[in-house]
Amino acid sequence: PASPPDWHARAAGLQVDGRAVIDGQRQDAADGATFDKHSPIDGRRLGAIARGQAADIDAAVRAARRAFDDGRWSRQAPAARKQVMQRFSAAVLAAADELALLETLDMGKPIAHALAVDIASTARTLAWYGEAIDKIYDEIAPTPRQALALITREPVGVVGAIVPWNYPLIMTAWKLGPALAAGNSVVLKPSEKSPLSALRLAEIALEAGLPPGVLNVVPGYGHEAGEALALHMDVDALGFTGSTRTGRRMLAYASQSNLKRVYNELGGKSAFLVFDDCRDLDRAAHTVADSVFFNQGESCNAPSRVLVQRGIADALAERITARAARWQPGDPLDPRTRMGAVVDAGQLRTVLGYIDAGQAQGARLLSGGRQARTETGGCYVEPTVFAGVHNRMTIAQEEIFGPVISIIPFDDEADAIAQANDSVYGLQAAVWSGGLDRAHRVARALKAGTVHVNQYDEDDITVPFGGVKQSGNGRDKSLHAFDKVTELKTTWIRI
Ligand code: NAD
Repeated sequence: PASPPDWHARAAGLQVDGRAVIDGQRQDAADGATFDKHSPIDGRRLGAIARGQAADIDAAVRAARRAFDDGRWSRQAPAARKQVMQRFSAAVLAAADELALLETLDMGKPIAHALAVDIASTARTLAWYGEAIDKIYDEIAPTPRQALALITREPVGVVGAIVPWNYPLIMTAWKLGPALAAGNSVVLKPSEKSPLSALRLAEIALEAGLPPGVLNVVPGYGHEAGEALALHMDVDALGFTGSTRTGRRMLAYASQSNLKRVYNELGGKSAFLVFDDCRDLDRAAHTVADSVFFNQGESCNAPSRVLVQRGIADALAERITARAARWQPGDPLDPRTRMGAVVDAGQLRTVLGYIDAGQAQGARLLSGGRQARTETGGCYVEPTVFAGVHNRMTIAQEEIFGPVISIIPFDDEADAIAQANDSVYGLQAAVWSGGLDRAHRVARALKAGTVHVNQYDEDDITVPFGGVKQSGNGRDKSLHAFDKVTELKTTWIRI
């Protein structure tokens, strides 16, 4: 990787193009409106971004529909779509430095993580779905009559995608991978807090051979461009990733418009259970700290509720606090930095507000708790650990989306399960125990889309990702993601 001054020099020379990508062209908003985007790393102005409105969304949906109907992508042989997806993936890797820089400047994550995780994972996702598409077979039903009943999958048509700012490229790739590989056209609305990388990605897709109109990206605010996309009468399915509050609205928009299919990937407050027969307390502590503080705590699946058996609570807390020291915020453009800036001043205030609430409600602050690097003009928070938390406290119930760990004691297995499931969320959970029977029993009892046993950091595009309860009803990743962007069609043939 380049040395720190190189990244600063590149950042200083960066020319941001904030125009939408519609029908293969860069375009201003129809009324010329823009909004200013600033970087959370030091407050610098990055540029003017097109402020998409209903007219721009409508133009993008029309382009997507035309592209779908003309069949240049939707009716291409799977092997041909696969080639383009693979070129697209390779082009993402070729543009790794540029995309990583956009990601870091836009939302504050360390450049080293943007390169190693965000870019790598985005490229792998696109290639993996491209690779999958010519290996999926349709079905023939075993009907009792003299007939063939073919059950085939068809692309739904125009897929709308609305994504958050915490992993702008990865969240985009999770929506694009299956939707494009299956032959759909897409209109994507990135978060107003992190629109830059998705706009560049749309250009890269065109350069890789994706026909114009198949992927359109319209930046703008949620209540303007986002709402217009979710309400549009010609969008067949809507993939949403974001907060539970906004996910609720997506279902309302669908019911107010054309009953489009909505698949929601929402918030989390994942529980990490450590029993006193845990064989490696050091590793448990390191895994918690590393999983929560990675990406400044802005991960939907961060295991931010640590439930620990009372007898080992102090020992675990001590180890987590020691590990937290390794996550001091630094300059995101320095490749040695592990923790960067939170996404903006509003998020900074939200996180500090939760830390105040934790103290006011009687939780014990073991480390961190303050704003950091104030001299930079950026939005930094110290890695923060609370012990003695009660599961009904605000910091244990609400998603903080910042670098804050809450350690909550439990008495026995039943108490651990009850507290873990006492949440409106159900995204992920972990069980750390040396007992095989206990690990299985507890994993089965936990209400979560994913349960980790004696680990947390494994993840791969091959497995589904999604939640239960108010964490959503979708499943991104894996072959199961095709279910959301395809329709089953039955064709009876008399023989
Ligand atoms: P958010 O709900 O505020 O915004 C998400 C997206 O929705 C943005 O693009 C925003 O502009 C848009 N939006 C907002 N209001 C809208 C409206 N009225 N109509 C249409 N669109 C609207 O969420 P956020 O703050 O960007 O992201 C953080 C949340 O995302 C957290 O809750 C996090 O847990 C969740 N998340 C979930 C997953 C997952 O896979 N389950 C992954 C990443 C993030």
